[in-house]
Amino acid sequence: MKKDISVVVPIYFEKENISPLYARLIDVISKDMNLAYEIIFVNDGSEDSSVKKIHELIEQDKNIKLIDFSRNFGHQVAVTAGLEHVQGEVAVIIDADLQDPPALIEKMYNKYKSGYDVVYAKRKSRAGESFLKRKTAKLFYRILGSISEVDIPLDTGDYRLISRRVVEQLNNMPEKNRFIRGLVTWVGFKQTYIEYDRDERNAGETGYSLSKMIKFSLDGITSFSTFPLKIATIFGLLISGVSFIYILRIIYLKYFTEKTIIGWSSIMVSNLFLGGIILLTLGILGEYIGRIYKELKKRPQYIIKEKYGFDEDNDND
Ligand code: UDP
Ligand code: MG
Repeated sequence: MKKDISVVVPIYFEKENISPLYARLIDVISKDMNLAYEIIFVNDGSEDSSVKKIHELIEQDKNIKLIDFSRNFGHQVAVTAGLEHVQGEVAVIIDADLQDPPALIEKMYNKYKSGYDVVYAKRKSRAGESFLKRKTAKLFYRILGSISEVDIPLDTGDYRLISRRVVEQLNNMPEKNRFIRGLVTWVGFKQTYIEYDRDERNAGETGYSLSKMIKFSLDGITSFSTFPLKIATIFGLLISGVSFIYILRIIYLKYFTEKTIIGWSSIMVSNLFLGGIILLTLGILGEYIGRIYKELKKRPQYIIKEKYGFDEDNDND
């Protein structure tokens, strides 16, 4: 049966959040809005009892589905897999930890009905997150905003409602290292937002380690901007300009004055400075080349261990 709405939930060690999330989702999409729904949980390699909890839900509600990965592939990959399996007229991407309040779905759906293809949820405030996380996130969105080729909305996560045609466009994009919120903006159509206060995590701990966060930000920047590649050119031009003036000065001092130049510290400083810039720009090149390499290998983005709850004939694998 065709669904009105598909909810995609990536799961990484969320055993305590699954039942409360399900209850709050059902309150909105089934009780209040009376929609034909499906909820697709994508287990991204959690080894706690998350899968068991989802199985318990599948037994009591046939609209629940599970995609169980063979290992941890990452949040964006989990969302990608979920989107590739949705059957609904619209899809909602939501975190499992209840930081994204399910009650907003009704407002998002109403906006969709009034003609929008994408309704994203913009964070007015973020509760329960460390000072460092809030500040670095804010800085990241601003840097990305200033150098990216599309206007990726500021302070916006993946919590959003997208129409069937946007889902299809996303599913047609074969790129790896996906930065989904950017890809959705890139697709276009009519997009709007609603504002909300981001809640604290209901239970458990963040699955985003520092290294995952760094990879995620670099994916965002490298997917939507080639500006970092130009840094070498900019520094190169600046340094050659300054050095040229300096060379003129040295020639002047040598031939027109009696002064000799004491050299050690200036040589060290300029060497270290240039060395730093060269390594930095090589590193930037490396980030892009690594991603090109990953694309070239054409490995699948994820491997599914097992799927549950999908009808045989609707299964698109
Ligand atoms: N998540 C995932 N794979 C990961 C890390 C996180 O599927 O490797 C899921 C997680 O279960 C949650 C969502 O992605 O539903 C957002 O993660 P989290 O709440 O840990 O991130 P934060 O809100 O702290 O940025
Ligand atoms: Mg969270």
